Amino acid sequence: MNLWLPFLAVVIGSATAFIFKEVSRQRMKLLLAFSGAFLLSAVATEFLPEIYESGDATFGIYLIAGVFVQIILEFFSKGAEHGHLHVHHDVTKFPIALFVSLCLHAFLEGMPLQEANGMTYGVAIHKIPIAFIFTGFLIANKASVTKILLVISIFAIMSPLGSIIAQYADFADAYMLPIKALVAGIVLHVSTTLILESSDGHQFNLAKMIVMLAGAGLAFMI
Ligand SMILES: [Zn+2]
Ligand SMILES: [Zn+2]
Repeated sequence: MNLWLPFLAVVIGSATAFIFKEVSRQRMKLLLAFSGAFLLSAVATEFLPEIYESGDATFGIYLIAGVFVQIILEFFSKGAEHGHLHVHHDVTKFPIALFVSLCLHAFLEGMPLQEANGMTYGVAIHKIPIAFIFTGFLIANKASVTKILLVISIFAIMSPLGSIIAQYADFADAYMLPIKALVAGIVLHVSTTLILESSDGHQFNLAKMIVMLAGAGLAFMI
């Protein structure tokens, strides 16, 4: 059941885009900062200790590889994983590369999610803005509702699919720690970008600070 939390989050984000169309930039930024701090805290308190507990420092290589995988994915996704699209609304063709990159990201980060821990919640929470922005983008490009539902369903299923495959495939079982390290790298990059890009020119922002503390604290407690 817990593996479906990321799925549920996509449904929530997408439905919000249909209902509200526009959410204030300020609110969106707070949600992004909250999810960034939540993810960062979850990775720091759950994945990193587990990875390094093994005593094998070579897992650090997988972590760095994860950062690079995410950088490459973002060439194609234009930053949709961390809550925005750096492209403008005059694109009329369906953004295949962006979509595939989002799906790959979701699939990979679903793999190590086998229980309801902070990481599962963190990944789920950060899917809300992704689904919202991507659905909003499709609506703005006048995609039909059927097409939007199809595309969003495929995207929504990706993380649970990753979890299920990892649960049943022998290879995934044997490589769970490297997979965790890779996903930790991906998530470290996304979460720090979420935090960075939700701020305005390094000005102190009390509301942002509070939601970040809440996010980090919650992830630590779960
Ligand atoms: Zn960006
Ligand atoms: Zn993600």
